[in-house]
Amino acid sequence: MKYTSTRDKCVNVSAAKAITTGISPEGGLFVPQSLPKLNMEEISSFSGMTYVERAEKILSLFLTDFSQDEIAHCARSAYGSGNFSDEKTAPLVGLEEGLHILELWKGPTAAFKDMALQILPHLLKISSQKTAEGMEIVILVATSGDTGKAALEGFKDVEGTKIVVFYPDQGVSPMQKLQMATQEGGNVEVCAIEGNFDDAQSGVKRIFTDSSIKESLRRQGMMFSSANSINWGRLLPQIVYYFSAYADLLETAAIKTGQKVNFVVPTGNFGNILAAYYAMQMGLPVNRLVCASNANNVLTDFINTGVYDRRREFYATSSPSMDILISSNLERLLYDLSGCDDQTVKALMNKLAQDGIYEVEAELLTRLQADFSAGFCDDEKTKKTIAKTFKKYGYLSDTHTAVGLAVYEDYKARTGDDTVTVIASTASPFKFGASVLEALQPGERGEGDEFARLESLQALTGQICPPPLMQIKGKPIRFEGVCPAHQMSQRLLDLLGVND
Ligand SMILES: *Cc1c(COP(=O)(O)O)cnc(C)c1O
Repeated sequence: MKYTSTRDKCVNVSAAKAITTGISPEGGLFVPQSLPKLNMEEISSFSGMTYVERAEKILSLFLTDFSQDEIAHCARSAYGSGNFSDEKTAPLVGLEEGLHILELWKGPTAAFKDMALQILPHLLKISSQKTAEGMEIVILVATSGDTGKAALEGFKDVEGTKIVVFYPDQGVSPMQKLQMATQEGGNVEVCAIEGNFDDAQSGVKRIFTDSSIKESLRRQGMMFSSANSINWGRLLPQIVYYFSAYADLLETAAIKTGQKVNFVVPTGNFGNILAAYYAMQMGLPVNRLVCASNANNVLTDFINTGVYDRRREFYATSSPSMDILISSNLERLLYDLSGCDDQTVKALMNKLAQDGIYEVEAELLTRLQADFSAGFCDDEKTKKTIAKTFKKYGYLSDTHTAVGLAVYEDYKARTGDDTVTVIASTASPFKFGASVLEALQPGERGEGDEFARLESLQALTGQICPPPLMQIKGKPIRFEGVCPAHQMSQRLLDLLGVND
């Protein structure tokens, strides 16, 4: 299996190369040249397998330059070593007949980013041995909150790597900030920026494609890679849990072999839902993919009209990991839907960078709407949904998952579609404790600090806070720096001790 670029079809690299470089030199994203297909027999055979075995099977279809032993080592280290608190890794919880929640936050940082970032360091280490011998890998991350912490946890003290994380100073939850500011490890750096997530992401993308910075690093024996979902090594592990969820539904006879299901995905950078789309293209029986956004509803409008217009007000919401107006991974979907038309993708992305807006052709829009539906939900409705869901089902959801629940409810009312549905739950409610508490007790944000709120939430709901979150209490703050977005590259060179 070889990989090409969404902006230049002449690119032809191995999986190891795609994973170590992160982004293609001309700014495009790596995509597989074709998607492997699974038949129904192979898909049903995932029932009765462990998550590690399911991951091995899917990964081996895409990482053809890895040995079986290497793939098994990566899958086992990530999902089979007690790093996830649930033995199923990504368990399904039934709310009612035909409605299931896929909990993707049983990993060490309590958000779904762990599903990919617990395995990425292993994939990257093997990839760099194959392609970049001797170079130290510098992982550069822009985060809306959850990726940063999950990447820091995944890469801390991994030999041959350094990791630098930039996050929007005002754009993350108190718990997310604390998680990053107290990060342990000898090879980690964290820096807040003045600006929003899009500024952080654009800054990182600029650094990646700046050849003079790259050259400065090379002279010091270092090279960049990315742990953002622009890296293929982030997306690939996410395909696994859609097959896994389907296999679990088969195991419990919630569906029959071949029966189609819907997936509802709370969406920001479009990585998670793109993995669901790839699973569908590989043969997983999917009826519809429902893209759920918060008040930053650029994707809702795009899917409904074909016009992508980022020139709109940016809202800091109670679901900060979805506060994004430039959804990077949409580029990969456009590439697929346009029939691998790299020139079209390149033109659209240039237009987005220059004008902040583009419109796709009618034919592409028709294809998009054949698989995707979309909706959005503001903070007020998010709160109501958290309260309602807890009252109705005794199920406590975080703000991001609540956006998915609300958008699904609207979708079902609008369409009457009663297909069995799986909603991706992307974070523990305790990760966004203040907002969740306020939803359950309107008007109150709880007494005292973040940890007092977590205690209140536990007492109120009888649910247990994931231990890694509680354990942050009392840890020393290691990182307090803030820099303007336009100084990110200089700050990075300073942190790495590289003199430009
Ligand atoms: C990152 C994140 C999302 C958005 O996922 P994308 O892959 O960027 O669409 C949703 N919810 C939570 C909690 C997240 O951390």
